Amino acid sequence: MNRSMYTKHIPVKRFGQNFLKNKIIINKIIQKMNLSKFDYIIEIGPGLGALTFPICDIVDKITVFEIDENIIFFLLCHQYNEKMNIILTDVMQFDFRYFFSLKRGVLYRLVGNLPYNISVCFFFKMIICNLHIHDMHFMFQKEVADRLLANPGNKEYGKLSVIAQFFYKIKPITTVDKFDFFPTPKIDSVFLRFIPYTNKYNKYDIERYFFAIELITRTAFQHRRKLLKNNLSKMFSETLLLKLDIHLFSRAENVSVHQYSLLAKNFLKLYK
Ligand code: SAM
Repeated sequence: MNRSMYTKHIPVKRFGQNFLKNKIIINKIIQKMNLSKFDYIIEIGPGLGALTFPICDIVDKITVFEIDENIIFFLLCHQYNEKMNIILTDVMQFDFRYFFSLKRGVLYRLVGNLPYNISVCFFFKMIICNLHIHDMHFMFQKEVADRLLANPGNKEYGKLSVIAQFFYKIKPITTVDKFDFFPTPKIDSVFLRFIPYTNKYNKYDIERYFFAIELITRTAFQHRRKLLKNNLSKMFSETLLLKLDIHLFSRAENVSVHQYSLLAKNFLKLYK
């Protein structure tokens, strides 16, 4: 990246602008993404192009979504502007399902050093678009990555872990030191790969499954220290919990993702 850009652009805090600056990390990320020329790439928040331009070295086209008009102007002036389909928008307001439906049969590859203030909400927003997604590579602050990857019994294990691991196979690609960003954030980050599961539910049921698992985990983890059977007493009988091999003395944090997925399945049967 052109170093002078750092001095010309004043990072905007409300847009979570912590730009990647370590070339070694950038190269590692690009290499691990295993890109090919004809991939349909979508980048969330290209910023000053730390990932965008090396991606443009490999692929024919990339669609980038950016909220900051100054950055849009910078991208439009860049030599790679013909490769970039640049969309000025707030990704939290954007209708991705409509966008994805415009090209039938295409599976998109998403990438983003996500702005920390919207990262989890954006991640949730993408779940119902899984039908159109081949994989996603996102940077999360380490504490969020720990929650995404946590196993039962761990204090980080919660609603986010269950939802993420229900819908995706998740693999950490690399940790990224806070000093690899400009300006330097308070904590380190982790770059993760998400591959949507396609065989866990009927693909047309994804919205219903998301609704069910979100509701169940939100209710289950609302009072972590209480017994699960009490937290979920309005939804499931003790008989059903036992049938699903969920011990009546279990707390939300001791129940596996598989068991939550059985709860979701039963919830959808019970409340058709
Ligand atoms: N990809 C660049 C990098 O790695 O250096 C920039 C990453 S920076 C953490 C996040 C980027 O997302 C910024 O360019 C920011 O302006 C953009 N952004 C923040 N909120 C956004 C939103 N709601 N919609 C679209 N882009 C957003």
